[in-house]
Amino acid sequence: MQAYTDTADVGHFINGRRTPGLGTHTQAIHNPATGEITRQLRLASPEDLEAAVRSAAAAFPAWSNTPASRRARVMFRFLELMNTHSEELAAIITAEHGKVFSDAMGELARGIDIIEFACGIPQLLKGDYTEQVATGLDNWTLRQPLGVVAGITPFNFPAMVPCWMFPLAIAAGNCFILKPSERDPSVSLRIAELLSEAGLPDGVFNVIQGDKQAVEALLSHPEVQAISFVGSTPIARSIYERGAHHGKRVQALGGAKNHMVIMPDADLDQAVNALIGSAYGAAGERCMAVSVAVLVGDAADRIMPLLAERTRNLKISHGMDAEAEMGPVITRDALQRIHNYLDIGVSEGAQLVLDGRGLTVPGHEEGFFVGGCLFDHVTPSMRIYREEIFGPVLSCVRAPDIDSAIRIINEHSFGNGVACFTRDGHAAREFARRIQVGMVGINVPIPVPMAWHGFGGWKNSLFGDMNVYGEEGVRFYTRQKSVMQRWPDSEVKGTEFAFPTHG
Ligand code: NAD
Repeated sequence: MQAYTDTADVGHFINGRRTPGLGTHTQAIHNPATGEITRQLRLASPEDLEAAVRSAAAAFPAWSNTPASRRARVMFRFLELMNTHSEELAAIITAEHGKVFSDAMGELARGIDIIEFACGIPQLLKGDYTEQVATGLDNWTLRQPLGVVAGITPFNFPAMVPCWMFPLAIAAGNCFILKPSERDPSVSLRIAELLSEAGLPDGVFNVIQGDKQAVEALLSHPEVQAISFVGSTPIARSIYERGAHHGKRVQALGGAKNHMVIMPDADLDQAVNALIGSAYGAAGERCMAVSVAVLVGDAADRIMPLLAERTRNLKISHGMDAEAEMGPVITRDALQRIHNYLDIGVSEGAQLVLDGRGLTVPGHEEGFFVGGCLFDHVTPSMRIYREEIFGPVLSCVRAPDIDSAIRIINEHSFGNGVACFTRDGHAAREFARRIQVGMVGINVPIPVPMAWHGFGGWKNSLFGDMNVYGEEGVRFYTRQKSVMQRWPDSEVKGTEFAFPTHG
């Protein structure tokens, strides 16, 4: 596969076409593997944002009146285009995010799952009907789209996370404005073009490039009915509060600190493979990355040498190198943040078994690379345990038994994903029941739910009460209407002054 090499400025997608917009501020986009500035991002001006909202609002009446089966046909064509263009899209992701190409293909596959699910929108929008709730009276409920809705997405899944939002939103009849991460925005524009090619009317899907000013404008815009956000916890919390203040429906997914419990009876080879892939895949920059291993009983002493060996031998390189298992992190600042956390962990008394600093990848000396880092003897009071590092750093905590492992995890402020590796069915069952985390894997390291189940964490990992995608996603992007109907020919009593009852 060819590397992506476009160097033109990155603008917006408004009303069915690309536009540089009127904004005068730009921001550099880097290739994290080389450290080079590859493109400039044009940040939206207030006029650009207004144009996007106006085009979405103008498209809404016709699009929401289009039969759901016809909207589904557009999604079917889009699904086909996403599949045929997936290598091209993955190369764009690798060029701006840095993750290895096979991982970018995996991200796309999971995003495409949601598009497939959205193709079933006629069934998902089917209402409920009760005949004869009283004499001559029927009652039904239906769900209708909200209008203009917006999505604000993080850098770490520039294609998949938008796909958690817009396929269901537009299939349900809404018009969508995406504000992607300013670090890797290019893939969103290509997706917008593919939507148009699939037959989506102009204005139904728009992309606005920007930073917090664009987000602020979306949050306060009276035409925007709902906000889906995915990003770090402080921003998620503030988006939730400010969106609610402006009367909007908000779902805001935040950060994570995902634990994997290894019980003494676990298959250690399977557990090590799972830990290495989930801790260091995508350089740990996944919201479902495992960043804490909770090693129960004698599992700790048996697994640590295996973990150290595998971590030391990770193949780290440019994401387009077919041999690479892990690429760079997103920015030089992120690299510095990870380095700082390693110092903090050491100063807190954790044992740094492997220090990934100082790694250079031949031919890519300016890339934002750090090797796999491994801490042992981490305790819950340490900052490296409590805070999200978002890099290839695995912290190992030792626990005497499963009850202490569950207690440690339940006391953590995040609750996105968790896993337990064991052969004991009862222990697994108890773990899944008692753990205070939204997504649980039993011998599955990254339990990202399928498209029809919905994704969402607990505690500081999600603000709002509805998951993204799945049936909750459909509910988020629609509102219920209840209709009661009686026809003049039905038997009706005369004027009634008492509150209506059944019968
Ligand atoms: P981020 O919070 O820095 O940015 C996310 C989005 O918010 C971007 O579009 C950004 O432009 C915008 N933004 C940044 N600062 C803002 C501000 N002050 N006001 C308004 N908007 C602002 O997150 P990131 O670094 O791009 O992504 C990594 C984070 O996302 C991690 O914390 C990760 O755990 C989280 N994440 C969570 C999930 C999940 O499902 N819970 C999924 C993916 C990523």
